[in-house]
This record gives sequence, C-alpha cells and structure tokens, in this order.
Amino acid sequence: MSTRGEVRSGGYITIGNARENNLRNISLRIPKGRLTVFAGVSGSGKSSVVFDTIAVESQRQLNESFPSFIRNRLPRYERPDAEVVANLSTAIVVDQRPVGGNSRSTVGTMTDIHPVLRVLFSRHGKPTAGESTKFSFNDPQGMCPACEGLGRTVRVDLDALIDEDKSLNEGAIRFPGFAKGTFQWQLYAESGLFDPDLPVKRFSAADREKLLHGSGFKVDRAGRNGVYKNEYEGVVLRFNRRYLKKGLDSLNERERAAVEQVVHEGPCPECRGGRLNQAALRSKIAGHSIADLTALEVDELIDVLTGLDLPAAKPIVASALSALRRVSGIGLGYLTLDRETPTLSGGESQRLKTVRHLGSSLTDLTFIFDEPSVGLHPRDVHRLNDLLIALRDKGNTVLVVEHDRDVLRIADHVVEMGPGAGTEGGEVVFEGTVAQLRRAATATGRALRSVPGLKERFREPTGTLPVRKAKLHNLKEVSVDLPTGVLTTVTGVAGSGKSTLVARVLPRQHPGVVLVDQSSTGISLRSVPATYLDVMDPIRAMFAEVSGQEAGLFSFNSAGACPSCKGRGVIQTDLAYLDPVTTTCEACGGSRYRPEALEHTLDDHTIADVLAMTTDDALGFFTDDNVRARLALLSEVGLGYLTLGQPLSTLSGGERQRLKLASRLHETGNVYVLDEPTTGLHMSDTRRLLALLDRLVDAGNTVVVIEHDLDVVRHSDWVVDMGPEAGRHGGQVVFEGTPAELLGAKGSHTARCLAADLE
Ligand code: ADP
Ligand code: ADP
Ligand code: ZN
Ligand code: ZN
Repeated sequence: MSTRGEVRSGGYITIGNARENNLRNISLRIPKGRLTVFAGVSGSGKSSVVFDTIAVESQRQLNESFPSFIRNRLPRYERPDAEVVANLSTAIVVDQRPVGGNSRSTVGTMTDIHPVLRVLFSRHGKPTAGESTKFSFNDPQGMCPACEGLGRTVRVDLDALIDEDKSLNEGAIRFPGFAKGTFQWQLYAESGLFDPDLPVKRFSAADREKLLHGSGFKVDRAGRNGVYKNEYEGVVLRFNRRYLKKGLDSLNERERAAVEQVVHEGPCPECRGGRLNQAALRSKIAGHSIADLTALEVDELIDVLTGLDLPAAKPIVASALSALRRVSGIGLGYLTLDRETPTLSGGESQRLKTVRHLGSSLTDLTFIFDEPSVGLHPRDVHRLNDLLIALRDKGNTVLVVEHDRDVLRIADHVVEMGPGAGTEGGEVVFEGTVAQLRRAATATGRALRSVPGLKERFREPTGTLPVRKAKLHNLKEVSVDLPTGVLTTVTGVAGSGKSTLVARVLPRQHPGVVLVDQSSTGISLRSVPATYLDVMDPIRAMFAEVSGQEAGLFSFNSAGACPSCKGRGVIQTDLAYLDPVTTTCEACGGSRYRPEALEHTLDDHTIADVLAMTTDDALGFFTDDNVRARLALLSEVGLGYLTLGQPLSTLSGGERQRLKLASRLHETGNVYVLDEPTTGLHMSDTRRLLALLDRLVDAGNTVVVIEHDLDVVRHSDWVVDMGPEAGRHGGQVVFEGTPAELLGAKGSHTARCLAADLE
C-alpha cells in the first residue's frame, strides 16, 4: 500500500557487501522516507542488517562528526562488516529493551507528563505548596520524608528474619550476613547479653526487645575479637542501617536476593503511596491532589483534565492532554502515570518510547523498530500501524522488523531475509511490494497465502487446575478452572490481566507451575549454549585427552582465558547515561582464549573453532552420544543455528524462552506457562513452535500460553479470554471454551478477530 507518491529526494540507503554475523555479502537499497518491513524466519539475519549494520553505522558516523575532543569521550563503535553503508540519516532504535530506570522512574516521568502536572499544581493548586520542585517526588523539597519519595517502604519481616525456635548458636538469625561465626553474629551471640543456647522464643520480653531493637548503651563485656567498643545496636536496627537504608537498588545481586527473603514491602504509611510530603499532597485542584491524578488510568485522567474548569490553566492542561492522548492513542490508556517503568512489559516499553518520539518535530530520521506488535491484541494493531505511518509521514524513514501479517500489510517496501536461519540464511530472498510478496515463493509469501484453519479435534482435559478469587492488579475476584493435559491459550487485549492471572497468580496458588519466560533469569551472562547444555566439560575432556594438557586450559572461564578480556572475547566500556559499548578484544580476536589453548586441535579444530560451530554442525562433528543428545535438544526447539559459543546475552527474548524449554524437553507431568512464545518467530517458525508445544502436551504436560497470535489460538485445545477491556475495565474472564466455541462468543474482541481472520 504505497501512499506516498514518490521516494523523497535523497533516494536510498545503500548497503554493499554486508557480512555482519551470518550475512552473505549482501547488497540492498532501502527507500528513504518510506516504511520498510524486514521479514524472514527467525535467525535469518534481519537484525544483522537493521541493527548490527544500519543502526551501528549510523551511530558511528554520527560520532565521527564530532570534534575529536568530544569523540574521545564517546563510545567507539566498530565499523560494521560491510563495504558500503551510505546515505544514512540519524538512526533511532526503538526496541523492547525495558526502559529500565529504577523505582523513581514512572510512566509519568518518562513521558514528561509528570513535570507538566507539577507546573499545573505549582500555579493552580490550593493551598499552594510553592514552585514545581515541591511536587517532585525525586526532589528533597517534594518527597515524602518517610519513604524518600518511593511511595513504598521495605521493612523487616520478623517472622522471616528470626527463627524463634532456634537459639543464636543454632542460627536463629536467618540472614547470611548474621550466620553463625560471622562478625555480626558475634555482636549478639558473644556479647554476654543473651544466652546463646536459649531458643529466642524463650527469651524474656525485655531480652527479646533488646536483641531486636536495643540501643543507647554500651556493652562492657567485649566479644572474642573485642568487637564491642561501640554502642550496642539491635539486630533490626543494624539490619535496617546496613541493608535497607540506601535502598535495595544499592545492594549487589546476591545481597539483594538474600534481603528480599526477610523483608516485606508495602505502601508507605505516611504518604500512602503518594510519594510526596504532606504540603504537596494537601494542595488540590478540583478536589484532586497530584498523587490522586497520577493514580488514575490515563484514560480517566484525560476525562478529569478535560472537565477542569480552570480558564487560566488552559495552555498547561492542553499540553498535558495532548501528551496523554498520544499514550492513549497507542493503546496504553490503561496505564497509570505512577506505574514504575521497571514493571512494564517489553511491548509496553517499546510503545511508550515511540510516544516520546511522536511528540518531537524532528524529521529526516531513521526509526528502527524491533517487532513492535509484541503484546498487542489483533484488535489494536491498527493503532500501531497509524503510529508507524505518522512517523513516516513526518518525513522519516521507518524500518520495522516484523512478522505480523497486519503490520506487513502497511509496508511500502518489504525485504525478506532467508532462506533459512544462521548459516542457512543471510541472503536477501525478496525485495518489493506486499502485493508482489504474496506471489513470491518465499517462506513469508507462502505463509501469507495459507492461513491455517481450526483444528479438527481438541484434546480432552485430564483434570483441572483451579484458580480461586484472584484479585491481584486489575483482577476482579477471578475464579477459573484451567484444564490440565491440554494446550490452553489465554487471550485478551493488552492490559486485560492475562499475565497477572497466569504468570503471577497461578504460580502462587500452584507452586509447581513452571514459568518459561523470556527474561534472562536463570541464564548466566557468561554462559553460551555449550555451557548451558552442559557439554563444555566433556568437550574439554576430549581436548585434554588428545593434547595431554589440563582440561582447564580449554576453559575460557579459567586457565584458558585470554588475559586481556578475561575470556569474554569482548571489552565492555560503561558510559554514564549511555548504553554500554562492547568491542571485540584485540588480543584474542574475539576467540576468548589465550594463544596456548589454541595450539591444540581435535580433528583439526581448535577449541575456538568448535565454539564457532553451529549446534547443527556440531551434531555432525561429535560422535559422543551424551554430547549429541544434549546438542539435539537445541535443534529440536529450532535453535540449531546458534553457535556453541554465542553469548546467551545476544539471544532475543523468544530465543531465550525456547532455550529454557529445550532443557526441559524430556520431562513430564509439569505445568508450563509461556508468555507470548511467538515473539521473534516467523509464521513458519510458529508452526514449529506449535509442534514443540504439542510434544510437551502429548508427553503428559500441561501448557498454558499467553498469546495474541491467532495461529496459536486456533491450534489450542482450550481458550480463556480476558477482558472485556484493559486495566480497570478488564480483569474478568469473558470466555472459556474450545476455539470452535469461541467463534460464536459474544462480547469478545478475540472472537471477532478470529472470525475475521478465517474469512
Ligand atoms: P533475525 O533477526 O532474522 O532473527 P539475526 O540477525 O539476529 O536474525 O541473526 C542471524 C544469525 O546471526 C543467527 O545465526 C544468529 O545466531 C547470529 N548472531 C546474531 N547476533 C550475533 C552475535 N552478536 N554474535 C554471533 N552471532 C550472532
Ligand atoms: P496483560 O497481560 O493482559 O497485558 P497485565 O496482567 O500485564 O495484562 O495487566 C493487567 C493490569 O494490571 C493492567 O492495568 C496493568 O497496568 C496492571 N499491572 C500489571 N503489572 C503491574 C504491576 N507490576 N504493578 C501495577 N500494576 C500492574
Ligand atoms: Zn511516603
Ligand atoms: Zn581477549
């Protein structure tokens, strides 16, 4: 659908002989001022073109344009492996990486709507609290003193911290920093104040109080190391000062995890979650404090502000409203401004980032999107499309990596990568319009022509998994029976409560439930497929045997590590305010190994050569059954194109999720919950994923997926549809039944979209 008459002057972004990652010397012309969609199976090289070549080169050229004294302070981007990358404009990458930030970053602060409300209250709030910093929870002048503007307080959970049945010697203080023998344990156990062998529950009330909260006196009998020269400090006081005062964010990961076991978090009693001090909270407009307004869903806030009768405030209100309408327009009207950005999903983060750019009047930029339809219900994809078209019509070039048929439809130009993944891909298999693509003999062309129909037979459940009276977030006392032994899809518009129900509440009510999400939890950042699959040890042993060297020499995590990069293969530079930049280690050329390790070979391959093999190739190289069985797991989940040494940190969310599934492929009797497993998957990959899920179910597992993809909905045995709308207007189950029954359901957006898709 080409809505622009001609390509803007300036013509094309030109790429010549690109070889980044798996790209095979490809050359491309991408029309500027147009919307180009990059399609192709997962792992075919879309990101290698768009992110690793175009975006990186644009950033590099931008940095080169600065005078050298500034340039020296900027990250040094490596030139991508391509002979020509020409005619670029400044690239802005809008990806799904969480917007991050900390608890002080909210939807209101990141969209710059909160500052506008602050100005509104500083000028028009009654009684007036003063200038706008007095309404900022990130400013000492505005923040609630009790929670320092966080709205929540974290307090010691005494039941968790103290095991009353035990004595100090038996480890009554259940925190690693106070474990028996530690310095902090001596402060109590060897103070002479308490009987270290008496269970805490048998302490006198006064002693118990002294142990936990005592202060204001010195201890005369010093402990073994003379530890008590200072004032006595009860366990809770000491714990608060050492571990809670500076906020959990200031702790390292291990400490933080330990602290989380013994504290509970709740709304701050002083500001009741409003984050601001009393002066700021007393100041009102039409009966609302600024905290009241930020607790409203964006759509409700729009109504309140529209109804304000405050002529003098008109320009400020108008400015807040236009920003709020942009948030609502992209389907995020169910968010509240006080929502902390770290709790947003990837799709929500990406859409919010886009909203920020829509407000700007810059033109002639290149916007690059990574699967923006993630998390969006088919009903709302048109809103995303409008947004992409609006960016293009402002005179920008829009590049989108996307699999969704409905997004593909609006492309002015399509580039398809393929034909396969990894070494089987890396070529441009199609360039042209959507109409031409529909006739093309490529994976995407075929998938566009053949929409799968409903399944003929649905599996019979073996039992049920009851969820009772779920009330978390927006859920309205939801009770639902999820069938076991079948594939269930949970559907509903974004924000309706799908993940709250099955990813948060279900595992609480049924602790055995396994959440297979896309996060990097459980995957060490130094790991690679070889270590994740536990094949590194046997491979090292083989090298040790043929070389007569210690196995450790073949480990990039120990003796074999390149000393320059400590076995990482890359050097990472952290930069304030910018994403860290990684560059290939010059000493080892990225191999991670010291030269001595590379002097030895196994069938002519060094250990670095082995790690550079794809899993599929490694299956042909190794003969050891155990190693092969483990490698085969990766191929079975469609990740055979990953090399044994590819850092797992470079995997996409969808790839990470399938990696986690791979390691569980041969288990049975489990309940798996997957959040949008089709992320990053081409329509043809989705069919492979479904085959994998079928295998899990047929092996006696229960699989529950949260999905928007209608191919998945049609293929499931049971559907639970949440809604009817998002946020406050959602949180209910609007339909339960088979996909065939769903087609006839009333009041379900999913039913309508499914029917339309089958036409
Ligand atoms: P797509 O975006 O089409 O899913 P990618 O461009 O991400 O595909 O990947 C193409 C190939 O390059 C895959 O085999 C992938 O595993 C590999 N690859 C991607 N990033 C890296 C990296 N940082 N290091 C090594 N290989 C990579
Ligand atoms: P879905 O999975 O259907 O997109 P969610 O379960 O993520 O919906 O969200 C349901 C509602 O709960 C939405 O109003 C959302 O804003 C809210 N919500 C989700 N996560 C959180 C959270 N961590 N804190 C506060 N509200 C949340
Ligand atoms: Zn407070
Ligand atoms: Zn190195």
